[in-house]
Order: sequence, then structure tokens, then C-alpha cells
Amino acid sequence: MRQRNKPWAKDKLNEYPQYVIASPQEHKGKWDTVFDQKQPLHIEIGTGKGRFITGMAKANPHINYIGIELAESVIVTALDRIIEEEIPNVKLMNVNANDLEEFFAKGDVDRVYLNFSDPWPKSRHAKRRLTYKSFLQIYENILVDQGEIHFKTDNQGLFEYSLTSFSEYGMLLTYVSLDLHKSDYEGNIMTEYEEKFSNKGSRIYRCEVRYQ
Ligand code: SAM
Repeated sequence: MRQRNKPWAKDKLNEYPQYVIASPQEHKGKWDTVFDQKQPLHIEIGTGKGRFITGMAKANPHINYIGIELAESVIVTALDRIIEEEIPNVKLMNVNANDLEEFFAKGDVDRVYLNFSDPWPKSRHAKRRLTYKSFLQIYENILVDQGEIHFKTDNQGLFEYSLTSFSEYGMLLTYVSLDLHKSDYEGNIMTEYEEKFSNKGSRIYRCEVRYQ
């Protein structure tokens, strides 16, 4: 995602502790207390400008959501959406996915979403892909037993790599679409990247996988 320099972004994130979780390590093992309602928790990693996570939160008020994003200059746009729409069941975390085990205990999270993750096409950068085996281990360590990852991308190479990575890790593939927008899948909420790439004619790949 293109990042413009926004020197004010960090201050703005700090101004809204009701939406941006300032010290996530303090909530490890007790995320229920952070939200108004005690209900399942789904997280999106690499949430970008927040179109997906806010759309999901509005469509599914019986689920709590956290959008996780490394770049403060990007996540600040997601914050604007939440402020404007006063969505109670979504919060944000400006952290790196590498550190998720510091913030979530085993079983804290019910589902992980990965949407249009950076493809890192060079094989020497494979370890940076959010579907690399070390990330799958991190997600397993914070998810409920038999927790799920839902993944979509326009990048065929990343999709094929990820299917192999999930399979080699021993995960079960429960849904796959090689052309989401032409499939019968209902209730798709588009991300910013999804809209951009599908408008250019790109095909969108989507899968759901489960730990066993
Ligand atoms: N999901 C959004 C969408 O579909 O519009 C954004 C996609 S963008 C290509 C990938 C995003 O993932 C970027 O905003 C990037 O900063 C974020 N990201 C990449 N690696 C990350 C990590 N290790 N932890 C948290 N966010 C990460």
C-alpha cells in the first residue's frame, strides 16, 4: 500500500484509545473486556485503510473485530472510518504481525483474515510472506483449536504458494475459489486493493483453511 508521509498520524492514533488499542499486551487472555459485547473475535492482518474490517463489523454486529496494520500512515484512514461511523465492535492495533503472540494467548482469536497480503515475489523474501510457515505457527498459537484463516488475493503466485504452505503445514482446505467475483460466494466485502485490482480486470482468488 502506498504510504504518504503523515507525521501527525501517530498523535492521531494516540488520541483515540477507545478505537486504537494502545497497550495490547495488557489484554492478553482477556480480550472480552476490551469490547462492549462478549462475542467471538476475528482479526485481519495487514488491514490497510480498513474498508474490509469496518464493512465486516457493520455486517456482523455479533462478532468483534480487530484490524492489525504496521503502517501508521495507512491505519489512520481506517481510524477515520471508525470515528465517522461510530462502529462499536471494531478496534485497531498498529503493530507488526511478527509480535502477535505478545498480545494474544492461545484461543483468544476465533478467525484470521489475510487480504491482499504483500506478495514478496523474490524467493529470498519468502519468509516475509504472511502465509510463510513461521506466520502459520504464530496464528496457530493465538487461534482457537481448529481455527480458520480466510485469505484472498489477486496475486496468482502468492495464492499458489500459500495453498502449498497451508497444505505442508497440515491445514485442511475447506473452500477455494479461483475467481471469487464470478463465483456464487455470498456476502463478500471488498477491500481497497480488491476494488482497485478487480476494476483493472484482475481475477480474485480466495480460500478458507482450518488447523487440524
Ligand atoms: N488488506 C488491505 C487491502 O486489501 O486493501 C491492504 C493490502 S496491502 C497490499 C498490505 C498491507 O499489509 C500494508 O498496509 C502493509 O503495511 C501491511 N502489512 C504488511 N506486513 C505486515 C505485518 N508484518 N504486520 C502488519 N501489517 C503488515
